[in-house]
Amino acid sequence: MSDAVTVRPKDWVPFRCRLCGSCCRNLRGNLMPEQLDAHRLARFLRERGELEFMEDFYTKYTYPDMLEGFFPIFMMNTAGPDDSCVFLENGRCSVYEARPRVCRLYPFTAFPGQRGKAFNFFRCMDNHSTHFSDGKILVKDWMYQNFSREDREFLTAESGNLLELGRLFKAMSPDQFKENLFQILYYRYYNFDLDQPFMPQYEKNMEELTHILQDIVGR
Ligand code: SF4
Ligand code: SF4
Repeated sequence: MSDAVTVRPKDWVPFRCRLCGSCCRNLRGNLMPEQLDAHRLARFLRERGELEFMEDFYTKYTYPDMLEGFFPIFMMNTAGPDDSCVFLENGRCSVYEARPRVCRLYPFTAFPGQRGKAFNFFRCMDNHSTHFSDGKILVKDWMYQNFSREDREFLTAESGNLLELGRLFKAMSPDQFKENLFQILYYRYYNFDLDQPFMPQYEKNMEELTHILQDIVGR
């Protein structure tokens, strides 16, 4: 958070994208597609005939990692000497319509506020900050255009689930975690039908996974 400053919906921010593509480079280990992003991207890529099922997205475009050493996640693949996002082609995003939430919100980020009732917005003050030079955008308009209701619902639900799952993962022994890793990945990432809406599937998966893990750790 040291590279971000708070902004309010009513703030005007000087910003103009020069389509330089810099924010899509040097991304190795820096772009984590969330499950909603992955579902959207998989549907989009299926239309282009590039995959069939949800798990194909993770196999083709991501690699597995562990957040803070204990939470299984997937990170976006990169390509080339400048570690460009795997979807950057000829300096442009090839999945623009279905790009991840963080890409749509950039140069801002959003986090759920207290009790998930509202969001806090931040302006990213990274090494691309020269794009904050001319032009003018209203934060509220940017969020209206780029931060969908589904994104907000997911982010709110996910922040609560991350806390609970984190507690359960930490309560498991290393052997229990290893034995159940596939099950965790299945419910977190793979068990999504691309022809069905995302949120009901996500909620059902999280409920089932939470119950399974609670039984394992005896809660
Ligand atoms: S947001 Fe900034 S870094 Fe990204 S393409 Fe636009 S000008 Fe370049
Ligand atoms: S998904 Fe598109 S916008 Fe996002 S980092 Fe990759 S190329 Fe850039």
